[in-house]
Amino acid sequence: MSFSNLGLSEPILKALDEIGYSTPTPIQAKAIPVVMLGKDLIAAAQTGTGKTASFVLPLLEKLNNDKKLRSKRIQSLVLVPTRELAVQVAASIEQYSKYLNITSLAMYGGVDAEQQKQALIWGVDMLVATPGRLLDLAHQRAIHFDELKTLVLDEADRMLDMGFIDDINKIIDRLPKDRQNLLFSATISEDVQRLAKRTLQDAKEITA
Ligand code: AMP
Repeated sequence: MSFSNLGLSEPILKALDEIGYSTPTPIQAKAIPVVMLGKDLIAAAQTGTGKTASFVLPLLEKLNNDKKLRSKRIQSLVLVPTRELAVQVAASIEQYSKYLNITSLAMYGGVDAEQQKQALIWGVDMLVATPGRLLDLAHQRAIHFDELKTLVLDEADRMLDMGFIDDINKIIDRLPKDRQNLLFSATISEDVQRLAKRTLQDAKEITA
């Protein structure tokens, strides 16, 4: 199994080669084809399994393919529990999209919002955000989700443990109904299952 077998194209393969990834991890081999097909997904995956690339790579591939159709509005939203994870996921997106014309932004609380708002005005394809700050900016009408294609809930169990369920529900209420949903969680607890049932449709289940 190689990344080119998974249908990733040259600019992404070149970036992966430079980073030194030669073989997809098991979660990547399972998740990438599902995400490329536009299907919903629930994945039981711990940190360290390569879960970030398992959603970032196919989403970048899809974004790159319909680039001509794109505006400056957000196409993919990744919700994460912490600022640290937001920064880390956005850094991975930067690395993997080195040879693509795609913009990403890490958005989190505890810092001034002006720079984040300005970045949104310039245009963001993939937004990685913690729920609280995202809702703040949505209430200020600084974020538009009308062109959103995909929602990713990363580390869903941690987001629920941190009490983000109401914020997550409020965010989901603002998204287009017709979208792809991907949920990643180290543990699939009852609360995670409940969230999955409300959010995902016909989801493919995979384990890292
Ligand atoms: P994650 O589970 O997404 O936090 O990734 C864990 C670590 O594995 C990160 O440092 C990645 O850079 C690395 N990684 C992800 N995919 C691969 C791969 N296919 N080959 C080698 N390293 C990888």
